[in-house]
Amino acid sequence: MDTVEQPNPDTELANDEDLNPLHLTHAQFQRAVEYLDDIKKGIVGFLMAPKRSISVCFPIEMDDGSVKIFNGYRVLHNRVLGPGKGGVRYHPEVNQTTVSALAELMTWKCSLIKVPFGGAKGGVQCNPKELSKNELRRITRRFITELGDNIGPHTDIPAPDLYTDEQTMAWVYDTYDVMHPGENNLPVVTGKPLELGGSLGRHEATGRGCLYATQRVLANRIIEGMETVEGAKVAVQGFGQVGSVVAKLFQEAGAIVIAVSDSQGGIYEEEGLDLEAAEQYKFEHGSVVGLPETRTITNEDLLELECDILVPAALGNQIRLHNVSQVKAKLVVEAANGPTTLEADDVLTRKGIFVIPDILANAGGVTVSYFEWVQNIENEEWDLEEVNKKLRLKMNRASDAVVDRWQKLVKDHPESEIAPINLRTAALVVAVDRVAHVTLERGIWP
Ligand code: GLU
Repeated sequence: MDTVEQPNPDTELANDEDLNPLHLTHAQFQRAVEYLDDIKKGIVGFLMAPKRSISVCFPIEMDDGSVKIFNGYRVLHNRVLGPGKGGVRYHPEVNQTTVSALAELMTWKCSLIKVPFGGAKGGVQCNPKELSKNELRRITRRFITELGDNIGPHTDIPAPDLYTDEQTMAWVYDTYDVMHPGENNLPVVTGKPLELGGSLGRHEATGRGCLYATQRVLANRIIEGMETVEGAKVAVQGFGQVGSVVAKLFQEAGAIVIAVSDSQGGIYEEEGLDLEAAEQYKFEHGSVVGLPETRTITNEDLLELECDILVPAALGNQIRLHNVSQVKAKLVVEAANGPTTLEADDVLTRKGIFVIPDILANAGGVTVSYFEWVQNIENEEWDLEEVNKKLRLKMNRASDAVVDRWQKLVKDHPESEIAPINLRTAALVVAVDRVAHVTLERGIWP
């Protein structure tokens, strides 16, 4: 039985859509649980609840001498498979709810890609575009000091996320190292600069993983008429650390990147964009918008373009009930975390549009974070070919596991009462199953 109606963008329903990220994550999780017959029901609540949530509030002296208060969060969702792992984001929309939802997604991501970590996430509510480098440094140092021993190389390991980068991770490392002298503290944080224990390939890892997952899913021949990215028309929303790499790597792999965007808007060229020129233009003007010989479009237009592959690589909740009916791509690849709402996801599934879910599509980042962590512990430095080869293997295995499970679920439940079965549900079934299994294998304490 269908439980979700087709959206009508002109009705109130579209505006009433539940966009609470925690509700969406839990609803996705609950769907997966329905297909896990032998899950011990009592542990479902445990698997949903965060193990630890920290919220801190601290003052920062700004460059002009004034003092501002900032709120920071770190949520450790689950550590059954290993220490907590997940990024730290700096964004005005950071709050306890968002961070909790993202921490839970990290649990499923780490489980699916098979790295020995649990899920965590953190962030500071701020607008990094309005902050100087010195202010960002003071915020980072103070935030990490406030977290104290709640992070550590074997307890909870931060990494970059939205609007944080290698420089931010260098400050995280330095602050922790000052607090814990005399120890090898390099594995306390990943995504560090290369000369400070970072891994080759980490900067590009999320985008590269996206390409590998897409190639592998397509090679499984589940999308009629599209078995490779070669010749595919691709639109990428976001031109930051992930989106710009996705665009470049898909183009190198033979795709035609027809549109990219940033927070100010997007650019479109039907024959394919000159990405180097776009990068240079953004560097000089702060945005890709205005690049000569391109048409300016909005971020909303980008999602609705005629294309084969749409890659949302920016914020959450971008594909929603009010615009989903306009999505024309054959495949959506979620480079961002949570870019598609639950109801929009169902509409895409019913329309036959495939979605490679975030926990698979963007798992390359945490995978190479894991490689960095291992190298730091062993005082090793792997070469780039080795990193990318290992990344490819992990992305291929996880992609195959998701496609296999999806095919099995569709076969076993041809008339699913719960919701149309898609790759997201299959990915969550694989991921949740693993964490549930290990939870019971370890046993409930005491
Ligand atoms: N922030 C990234 C993510 O959402 C990477 C996390 C990590 O490397 O630990 O997957």
